[in-house]
Amino acid sequence: MESFKLYIDGQFVPGNTTFTSLNPATAEPWACIAEARKEETDNAVNAAVRAFESDSWRTLTAGARGRLLLRLADLIERDAMKLARLETLDTGKIIRETRAQIAYVAEYYRFYAGLADKMDGSSLSIDKADMETWIKREPLGVVAAIIPWNSQLFLSAVKIGPAIAAGCTLVVKAAEVAPTPLLAFAGLIDEAGFPPGVINIITGFAEECGSCLTSHPLIDHIAFTGGAETARHIIRNSAINLASTSLELGGKSPFIVFADADLESAANAQIAAIFSASGQSCVAGSRLLVQETVKEQFLHLLVTKAQGIIIGCPQDPETQFGPLCTAAQKEIIEQVVTRSIARGAKLILGNQPVGKKGFYYPPTILDCSQCPDADSVSQELFGPVLSVLTFSNEADAIRLANSSEYGLAAGIFTRNLTLAHRVTRKVRSGVVWVNTYRVVSPLAPFGGFGKSGFGREGGIDAALEYTTTKTVWLRTSDEPIDDPFIMR
Ligand code: NAD
Repeated sequence: MESFKLYIDGQFVPGNTTFTSLNPATAEPWACIAEARKEETDNAVNAAVRAFESDSWRTLTAGARGRLLLRLADLIERDAMKLARLETLDTGKIIRETRAQIAYVAEYYRFYAGLADKMDGSSLSIDKADMETWIKREPLGVVAAIIPWNSQLFLSAVKIGPAIAAGCTLVVKAAEVAPTPLLAFAGLIDEAGFPPGVINIITGFAEECGSCLTSHPLIDHIAFTGGAETARHIIRNSAINLASTSLELGGKSPFIVFADADLESAANAQIAAIFSASGQSCVAGSRLLVQETVKEQFLHLLVTKAQGIIIGCPQDPETQFGPLCTAAQKEIIEQVVTRSIARGAKLILGNQPVGKKGFYYPPTILDCSQCPDADSVSQELFGPVLSVLTFSNEADAIRLANSSEYGLAAGIFTRNLTLAHRVTRKVRSGVVWVNTYRVVSPLAPFGGFGKSGFGREGGIDAALEYTTTKTVWLRTSDEPIDDPFIMR
């Protein structure tokens, strides 16, 4: 078995206890992971606090912080294959997806490297003749970054990049499920030359590590990506330290197909939206809303394409569809699908054993048009299950799209530009893709409405969220201050 350590204060630390990580494609243990419990978590926070308060970090120029991020991006590219292999081994995500994602990870670091020396303050034209007044942007402080198991390198990049650009220091908690890509990534942080304690990478379980970190009195900001139930714990924890929080949570994203759409192209995008990463994506387009008049035609296209998906070993570059990450997730999905079928959902595709050893669950399509209140329609499954609903007109489509408590992403497929604009305006979600799906860029803000969370990652504003302002008043008059009992 391969072994992975924690990275605290610039040192690789074995931890007092260890746990094993499973390969989801075989259900067998393959890695031994050092566990952060209260002691290690506390050490990591203290290291980040010391680094934040150190003269060497506080006086490092923004340009120098940017150069550290650039070096990190180069090292990520150098080790792209190694990192992608680990992500595939540990999460079961297919190698073509993890390889492609690593390229994005480097681009996000480069974007924030370029921003580091452009987060300027401003001066104010105050209506007081004897005052010079300006606003400085200062780093928020010590950040706890809590990462879910899927896309750990990507989801940590959208936190580490802007936080370092702003001058913060971090404790990054890799998910206890599939933590190895992030723990291995610590080696690149070290090699890039970040001062000890500036970025610490730990992993561990909810109570001993996650709760300890997010309630820690010395944490200033919590950047969380994960599920809504965990987010509630985090918010309760932040009541202890009064840290600011940003939450990137789940979704139940509508994929809306109007009758005039290019159905071939929409079907390909729907396949990508729900079956890429075996559906384990926060933006999974898991609710297909299709106009009644083209329902049969579209479902026929979709089922034909889904039947052709190559299910196999995630390490094989030909594979298009791998296992789920955990046995527990597979069980939840099986239960929800069974319940939804009992409620009246019609099974169009899937729900049969894949015949492989790991945590495989097949591409599954449920026609829920007769049971729109089925659990598969409302619950985020984080798996390859598509629930199909139909609509008769534009208003109906918008009503259905907005009938979820989530609001992360939406897809709209139509050739009618004015219709696309009207629906975009009315759909309640943080991202809308028109005639495309699952496109990202470091320039584009990303985040949700409603139970999909608050705060944004990506784009310029995300970096500003890791800063706060300091207003400086400088009196330019040499005259003595007169009446001390009035506000000036
Ligand atoms: P999760 O909520 O179970 O775990 C996320 C992280 O929180 C893990 O590191 C976990 O150890 C930690 N954690 C758990 N309990 C904690 C506690 N009490 N205090 C502090 N930390 C705690 O999520 P998951 O199963 O790893 O990931 C899947 C979820 O993440 C899905 O809901 C998915 O939609 C969401 N997600 C959202 C985005 C986004 O950008 N909006 C991206 C990817 C995943």
